[in-house]
Amino acid sequence: MTIADNLARIQDSIRESCIRAGRSDGSVKLLAVSKFHPTEAVMEAVRAGQRLFGENRVQEASEKFPAIFDCVPDVSVHLIGNLQRNKVKNAVRLVSCIQSVDREELLAEIDRQAAIIGKTIDILFELHTAEDSKSGYADETALFRSIDLLDSKPHVRCRGLMTMAPLTDDETLIRRSFRALANAQRSCARRYPSLDFSELSMGMSSDYEIAIAEGSTMVRIGTAIFGERA
Ligand SMILES: *Cc1c(COP(=O)(O)O)cnc(C)c1O
Repeated sequence: MTIADNLARIQDSIRESCIRAGRSDGSVKLLAVSKFHPTEAVMEAVRAGQRLFGENRVQEASEKFPAIFDCVPDVSVHLIGNLQRNKVKNAVRLVSCIQSVDREELLAEIDRQAAIIGKTIDILFELHTAEDSKSGYADETALFRSIDLLDSKPHVRCRGLMTMAPLTDDETLIRRSFRALANAQRSCARRYPSLDFSELSMGMSSDYEIAIAEGSTMVRIGTAIFGERA
């Protein structure tokens, strides 16, 4: 199977999951997670029509993507991994969205660095919804505390929420995690009617069909597109 074959198969499967869930075609975006895969693999996906990519590390993304942006300007990258404060400067220059915002300090630094280059950057707030995951806001109270600060952060544009389900075969636990994120989205939309919480980034190679059934608007898929990571 080539990367192009994998992309086509997953796009079909996303469409089928949408139909099963009674959702419209095109309501779920595919983020191709290219971490640990070389520029050539990304270019193969680009040639197959893929434009949206996800990377975990700023350093790795900045080694691969500037050359790709030069060839294909409408490619964009989302940062999906834990972000250290001292990497924010490079991150805001490179990516269109930071999905892994998980603390106030990070929000402040993203706004500060984006202001310096006159950019407004999209963000998702990452919520902790599974026992075995380490990242994300612990609960809605902690999340709300950060969202309350957005008024004073004009270079950050809220787009929604992100989570990682537990790594388990237990579908009930996975579903519970995705439902928790969908519930948090409803709470946020009610509490902050002037902000945009439309994006729900959830679902990976092993659980994206469940995520779509639970309302995901963006699935983050690596292994099923690019193969196992080295
Ligand atoms: C690696 C990663 C993915 C993709 O995982 P696969 O199982 O390879 O599809 C998705 N989201 C995050 C946050 C990741 O770190």
